[in-house]
Amino acid sequence: MATGILTIDIDALISNWKALDSMTNCETAAVVKADGYGLGADRLARALAHAGVRKFFVAATEEGASLRQALGPGPEISVFSGHMAGDTDMISDMQLTPMLNSIDQMLRHVEALPGAPFGVQLDTGMNRLGMEAGEWAAVRDLVVSQNPTLIMSHLACADDPEHPMNPTQLRVFKEMTEGVDAPRSLAATGGILLGDDYHFDLTRPGIGLYGGMPYIEALPVAGLSVPVIQIRDVEEGETVGYSNTWMADRPSRVATIAAGYADGIIRGMGEKAWVHSGDTACKIIGRISMDMIGVDVTDLSEEPSHLDLIGPHQSVDTVAAAADTIGYEILTSLGARYTRRYK
Ligand SMILES: *Cc1c(COP(=O)(O)O)cnc(C)c1O
Repeated sequence: MATGILTIDIDALISNWKALDSMTNCETAAVVKADGYGLGADRLARALAHAGVRKFFVAATEEGASLRQALGPGPEISVFSGHMAGDTDMISDMQLTPMLNSIDQMLRHVEALPGAPFGVQLDTGMNRLGMEAGEWAAVRDLVVSQNPTLIMSHLACADDPEHPMNPTQLRVFKEMTEGVDAPRSLAATGGILLGDDYHFDLTRPGIGLYGGMPYIEALPVAGLSVPVIQIRDVEEGETVGYSNTWMADRPSRVATIAAGYADGIIRGMGEKAWVHSGDTACKIIGRISMDMIGVDVTDLSEEPSHLDLIGPHQSVDTVAAAADTIGYEILTSLGARYTRRYK
């Protein structure tokens, strides 16, 4: 078998959800957009529902529809992008709850599906999604009279606890929702860590469930082990990979492993990343190819059958740092070719 093995630790996922839940006195949902941050929304959401999660969030109505099929009736599935043109049948048939982002979406929803549940997303400064203060003022009374499931907003800088944007958005959110008798939500993973003021009635963690920063204490959920296809000796002065970017400065053993940038191993991280054989770090050498990567295994005493790219010695966030990105991007880029093993 020449595909990487992506191991997904469901117990760690549940522990992370419970730990985040225990940091607040309110309800904790689970964000499973982008196929559960690349780890498999259906499997993970079923496990979370089994552990007591009653509310899930996805980005798009299509994601919500497939999640409903995985979860069956019961859990609330909310859609951040709201009620888009063409979504009506799916929202209704699959019992999805759109988070309405504009007056247009609001009108579309109440006209097409009168009485159907919805929430509202407010923009408190991120300028990405949600009603602005003026729009909100115009529909606020109408919204409240329809018993929305949730009034929510999203923080732009919650990964930086010292950022002045956090208290600013908190103040705006409070002002916009003052006197509104509906459940409120402001915090994703970063917001949970900012403390009580940010928790309101519901939190919406994503990355923290999957073991990523900014939740430093998270248990790792994903592990990636890549099979070695071939091992060869190269002499001092020989090169490895495209464009000859690596040259042996000693007689070396080079392993070719079966994953590349088509599997989400970001090419730009080049030789900054490492893989591990047990406890021993081995350097990635040469250009990362589409389906393969070269590794210097000269110092290993035995020939490895697999090398770990994500594991106890190298977290998702470490890989992200080598690629100059964030753990979110590493997880959601994890390739479709991997064999996913849930444990
Ligand atoms: C993605 C997202 C979340 C989850 O964010 P994390 O940082 O992964 O916890 C919550 N709310 C909204 C609106 C989102 O887009």
